[in-house]
Amino acid sequence: MARKRKIKRYIFVILGIVALITACSTSPGKFLESKTTNPAKEAATARLSLNRENSQLQQPPNKIENLNFTIPKKFQGTTIYKAEVPNNEKVIALTIDDGPWKVTTPQMLDILKENNVKATFFWVGTSILENPEYAKRVVAEGHAVGNHTWHHWYKKMDVATAKSEIERTAEIMYKTTGVKTLMFRPPGGVLNNGLAAYAKSQNYAVVMWSQTSADTDPRAKYQVFVKNVLRDAKPGGIVLMHDGGGDRRRTVQALPEIIKGLKEKGYRFVTLPELFSVDG
Ligand SMILES: [Zn+2]
Repeated sequence: MARKRKIKRYIFVILGIVALITACSTSPGKFLESKTTNPAKEAATARLSLNRENSQLQQPPNKIENLNFTIPKKFQGTTIYKAEVPNNEKVIALTIDDGPWKVTTPQMLDILKENNVKATFFWVGTSILENPEYAKRVVAEGHAVGNHTWHHWYKKMDVATAKSEIERTAEIMYKTTGVKTLMFRPPGGVLNNGLAAYAKSQNYAVVMWSQTSADTDPRAKYQVFVKNVLRDAKPGGIVLMHDGGGDRRRTVQALPEIIKGLKEKGYRFVTLPELFSVDG
């Protein structure tokens, strides 16, 4: 009998703890509702609620993993122009440089969202400083991010300057969005001014591109950007375009047609980390 009472007491203690946890994890409305149910039902509800809470708890680590835009070891410290994908699977990565930028970044994010496309943004440190809200939105919407230096300089740099250009950007990126990245794109694609060498020494992949929209051409109509991308699209390709660093209204105009055209050609859009993981 004493043993039975003991067990009963344990059950009450456990139910009490479960009820307490439920009280902390559910809204007041929900807690009031659970008061009206019988203890067994209440315990079951609490279990369900705990399961739900556990599954929610399991999400943050995934998110943290996603927020660390690392890449396979074989690409670290190398320069990449495109990925080798098995069976020439039609996967392609859109990369968008020089933001986050006022007006054009949110417009491009809207277009990407409407089309269920994830891209990779290479950010400039000064742009993050000016537009932190759009940096946060890029990350919240599931896009990948790389480092594109602080000042976007092309000039030759000593190691200390190259280090500062990359590390300052990494720091503000982390402070603003919690993101760490091992992807680096040298401004202007310049590979011999000290930046790429420093990035490689820190295990970054120096990510170039296999095709450009040529959207920095001040005279071209937006249709030309579309034509450029569709003409040169290839499996494992990395497409260059811009959301910042100037007037990018034509890129915004081109983006829906680029996405539509690539989809019609059978392409699936991936972020750079996804593209590199497809490349064995
Ligand atoms: Zn750039």
